Amino acid sequence: MPETAIWWVRQDLRLADNPALSEAGRDGRPVLAVHVLDEAAAGAWAWGGAQRWWLHHGLAALAADLARLGAQLVLRRGDAATHLATLAALLGGATIHAAAAYEPWARRQEQAVAARAPLHLHRARTLTDPERVRTGAGGPYGVYSPFMRAVRAGLVDVPPLPAPARLVAAPTVASDRLEQWGLLPTAPDWAGGLSASWTPGEAGGQARLADFLAASAAGYAAGRDLPGVAATSRLSAFLQWGHLSARQVWHAAQAADLPAGARDKFLNELLWREFSIHLLWHHPHLPDRPLRPAFAAMPWRRDDAALAAWQAGRTGIPLVDAGMRELWQTGWMHNRVRMITASFLVKHLLLDWRDGQAWFWDTLVDADLAANAASWQWVAGCGADAAPYFRIFNPALQGAKFDADGAYVRRFVPELARLPDRWLHAPWLASPMELHAAGVRLGASYPAPLIGLDAGRARALAALKTIGQAAGVGADG
Ligand code: FAD
Repeated sequence: MPETAIWWVRQDLRLADNPALSEAGRDGRPVLAVHVLDEAAAGAWAWGGAQRWWLHHGLAALAADLARLGAQLVLRRGDAATHLATLAALLGGATIHAAAAYEPWARRQEQAVAARAPLHLHRARTLTDPERVRTGAGGPYGVYSPFMRAVRAGLVDVPPLPAPARLVAAPTVASDRLEQWGLLPTAPDWAGGLSASWTPGEAGGQARLADFLAASAAGYAAGRDLPGVAATSRLSAFLQWGHLSARQVWHAAQAADLPAGARDKFLNELLWREFSIHLLWHHPHLPDRPLRPAFAAMPWRRDDAALAAWQAGRTGIPLVDAGMRELWQTGWMHNRVRMITASFLVKHLLLDWRDGQAWFWDTLVDADLAANAASWQWVAGCGADAAPYFRIFNPALQGAKFDADGAYVRRFVPELARLPDRWLHAPWLASPMELHAAGVRLGASYPAPLIGLDAGRARALAALKTIGQAAGVGADG
């Protein structure tokens, strides 16, 4: 019998298109699948609450899928290098196959494992190799568009690998029980909205992808900015946990019968994911400090009450509150609203982008170190290819433009539902009679704005000026 190999299950919770699993099981080699919960290694970036919920269900789904092929999913908690080296030795020097990571802590973890056991890393989480994509001058990219063009020029649409038809099981070894890990919330159980919104697992991801391509992808280019319309794929968490590979999604979108504009727009969004990963790879401090050094001196305010109001969706700005409540209830938020809620935090409230990043980390089911950090830095104006610092979204104008019929705000801020469209995104402009007719009492049934939009904008620009960043003033978006 050929020697056993270990599939170290990381954020690649799938059987299909999984080079680490395929290689481990090559030529009928017995495979031991092992997932290690190593929270100490992740440090400050250990899984947040919503991710823990997803991980629990994602592992349960994978264990069931493996069981159908006759294999076991072994769960271990603690130092990954110690567990993997012990198991490899137990199996007579087994080789470990795993998906290569891009998070700095996970790259250090790989080095620790490789120092103690034979480790083969496979590129299973990305379309591109973040190390290899280089500018003409040989450096990493700092701007999205040339990165995107370079990647698209070189990317070959490789058909994904099939799931193994069968696996030869390795000898059974001791495993934790998933329930022992306590990944699910206990009292209060805040995860009801997550369960209603998502089906973690490979089958759930495949179903979401098929549904998106059949039902909404054709309208992606036109609808992707409208939070009240289900026009985007909602694949981010499935990609983040590796229930789907980026290659599978890319290939399926290429093969689907879609208008070229919609397909292109969607594929370019997938490349924003690659670009974020590229940035984190080359700037491991991306989640911790601004890429633009001038922003280290930014006079961020400390205001715990304002931060708590933002987190709870009680800022008095309807579109911001709708977004923050969507996040809390479902573990996901529409991309345009992510930009608007983030901009409101760092600009109007003048609170540090790292506070917003931390809240998203804890509450998003798709929280990803690269995309989260790169996007927060982009919004704050301190990142690579950042939004111009003077671009301060006006959430009332954004609401009137992208949620014109108010469907989104009415869903998540029902206490404003009876306001006419005209006032829905700026209730402070409505007359007392109009508010009364809609059953709204500002400051009682719904908060008065934490800050006036003009005053917040002026304060942000003044703060930016102190760090030499406010030479020009653009129009509100
Ligand atoms: P679609 O529009 O269907 O896009 C398809 C896929 O492309 C997504 O699933 C995602 O993998 C990728 N993608 C799309 N837009 C972006 C983007 N701007 N940056 C990187 N990848 C992108 N995305 C995360 O996956 N994890 C995060 O932690 C995260 N944090 C964010 C924080 C802020 C402040 C902002 C403004 C954006 C953040 N994003 C994050 C990016 C984006 O909002 C989500 O990827 C997107 O909303 C997911 O919805 P979807 O799957 O329907 O996207």
